[in-house]
Amino acid sequence: MTAIADAEGYIDHNYYVDTLQTAPRHPVLGETVETDVCVVGGGLAGLNTALGLLERGQDAVVVEAKRIGWGASGRNAGFVAKGYSASEMSLLARLEKPHAQQLVTLTQNARKLIHSRIEKFNIDCGPLTPGVLTVSWKDNAREMRDYIDKANDVFHTGFEFWDREKVREHCKTQRYFDGVYSPQDYQFNPLRYLHGIAKVITEQGGRIFENSPAVKISRDGKGWKVETKEGCVKAREVVLCCSIYIDGLDKRLANAAFPVQTYIMVTKPIDDALLEQSLNTLHAIYDMRFCSDYYRRVDGNRILWGGRVALWSRPDNIAGMMLGDLLKVYPQLKGHAAPDYYWSGLLCYAPHKMPQLGQIEPGYWYNTGFGGHGLAPTTACGEVVASAIAEGDETWRAFEPFGIGFAGGKSGRYVAQMVYWWWRARDLFLV
Ligand SMILES: Cc1cc2nc3c(=O)[nH]c(=O)nc-3n(C[C@H](O)[C@H](O)[C@H](O)COP(=O)(O)OP(=O)(O)OC[C@H]3O[C@@H](n4cnc5c(N)ncnc54)[C@H](O)[C@@H]3O)c2cc1C
Repeated sequence: MTAIADAEGYIDHNYYVDTLQTAPRHPVLGETVETDVCVVGGGLAGLNTALGLLERGQDAVVVEAKRIGWGASGRNAGFVAKGYSASEMSLLARLEKPHAQQLVTLTQNARKLIHSRIEKFNIDCGPLTPGVLTVSWKDNAREMRDYIDKANDVFHTGFEFWDREKVREHCKTQRYFDGVYSPQDYQFNPLRYLHGIAKVITEQGGRIFENSPAVKISRDGKGWKVETKEGCVKAREVVLCCSIYIDGLDKRLANAAFPVQTYIMVTKPIDDALLEQSLNTLHAIYDMRFCSDYYRRVDGNRILWGGRVALWSRPDNIAGMMLGDLLKVYPQLKGHAAPDYYWSGLLCYAPHKMPQLGQIEPGYWYNTGFGGHGLAPTTACGEVVASAIAEGDETWRAFEPFGIGFAGGKSGRYVAQMVYWWWRARDLFLV
């Protein structure tokens, strides 16, 4: 693969950047422009919101601080799965059943919408390999069957139970017992998808500005003024999709979430015969531990391996750490799997683990907090915000129970760190 020249501005060592065939640069905003809606942030949340608005007849301008997909949206594992970072069962425990069902259905529809947009707009981000298999490090078949029955009954998830023999045909490791197979989930190349969506946005008349960080938002008559470093957007409404990078732009949102790091490594190509004896599947794999491994084959015979979470500084040896985790599961690859790419990414978590979507003031929207499960939810929430603004649709109120409460400010990370240590200790103890 050859990296293209205009892929500059992304992090080094990101495999997806080297797969880009096209990543046209968008201009820096250097003047004052007017629009119906200004979307701040050019990740999946921002671009999905902008596309949803354009499709509903609104004009939209996106301002991105760096490059399209520079944040988590261009660094993730590429699993397109229904649901949110908060599990379906936790929603069911917290909300009335129809409300929980409504929220999950939004992401099931989003998963279909991503698929249909890829086809409709001919976005080259495949292969769209179907199926995510969630495996267990514990011998808990009964519990797993109960969970599948309930999820299928309440949320129509279409999950299948895979016994350990079947799991181990696909994942040749003694680490795993039984699994939950979700045939409707799939995987793709997220950065190429995002550039495809950006292209559609500009073709539909939307404007995208890169390297144009919003530095101040203020009232402007009945609308809003979004000042960037070198320009300004005047808009009737504004939508903040800045994830954890929001910093000083809005303290209310900055204080309502905390950052969590996670890591990915992509190996050099591995011999096909060795893959047959280890990761003998094209399905994406996820395990049920809190600090789970998530991985899949990319480019035919490389393994993209993600895992771990951390709240503080970036470790020096991401590649070695990830390789160590891979070899714990597939020791037969020792001496045959070597890291080629590695990177870290920041997730934006609210304590309730649900997206934060709503209005701080009329016309001042936020759409953020997707955590480690954002591909389908950013699409769902982009649609929800767009239909609220363009059509007065009230679906956004389904997210009201998960507002922007205080996440602890600077001490939020300490609380999260303790929770993390507790859960990690539980993983170690249980497996
Ligand atoms: C390693 C990793 C693996 C993951 N794997 C998966 C997976 O397999 N499946 C899945 O569903 N989810 C996954 N996720 C989660 C998913 O990627 C995120 O939930 C999703 O991308 C969040 O999108 P976003 O647009 O909210 O944030 P981001 O993609 O982070 O975008 C925010 C953007 O806002 C911009 N911005 C911030 N402040 C300003 C400002 N003042 N002015 C202008 N622009 C600004 C930033 O530069 C950034 O580009 C993963 C995440 C990571 C990091």
